[in-house]
Amino acid sequence: MELLKERIYKDGKVFPGDVLKVDSFLNHQIDAELLGKMGEEIYDLFKDCSVNKILTIEASGIALACFAAREFSCPCVFAKKAKTSNISDSVYTTGVHSYTHGVDYNIVVSKEFLNEGDNVLIVDDFLANGAAMNGLISLCEQAGARVVGCAAAIEKVFQNGGNSLREKGYRVEGLAKVLEMDGEAGTIVLE
Ligand code: 5GP
Repeated sequence: MELLKERIYKDGKVFPGDVLKVDSFLNHQIDAELLGKMGEEIYDLFKDCSVNKILTIEASGIALACFAAREFSCPCVFAKKAKTSNISDSVYTTGVHSYTHGVDYNIVVSKEFLNEGDNVLIVDDFLANGAAMNGLISLCEQAGARVVGCAAAIEKVFQNGGNSLREKGYRVEGLAKVLEMDGEAGTIVLE
């Protein structure tokens, strides 16, 4: 998506550890107009997939997921990061390794909001090694819901999350794809 690529080149900041910061428009301050257009792009890509639910993970996936959900006229559900290990029977849960914080945590979704027969589109801000997306897929499997695909605002294709999901048969779309990043030089190459 050209508009997003231009914005990444203009405002994205590359850090050591293959971390791209897009805090000025995507995951701290939010450019609602840009995210609205990204929601439209996601709708165009998946409009023929009978999507009836968008699933994401708190916190930084929520904004884009809501804009996408608005296009599909469907609910946006976000998995919560569990604060305690005392998890009730009324939720689906799985463990996820955090790329940016380097820790493991549990994510939960109430059984009320993810159901057998749902056609779920998973949306997140970044796709790196795929831990977050795989965790969300696991929640859908537990619910008996069908995953119609995964959409990430930014896919870092030099990490393997996207391609390993594609190898498993999932449709994965990155609105902008990072081919290379150099944290020392602060440079980035997009597809
Ligand atoms: P994965 O689970 O695919 O390894 O990483 C995706 C998750 O980690 C996303 O939910 C996102 O919040 C975070 N993440 C991964 N890479 C980056 C990055 O380069 N920049 C930022 N801001 N977040 C990232």
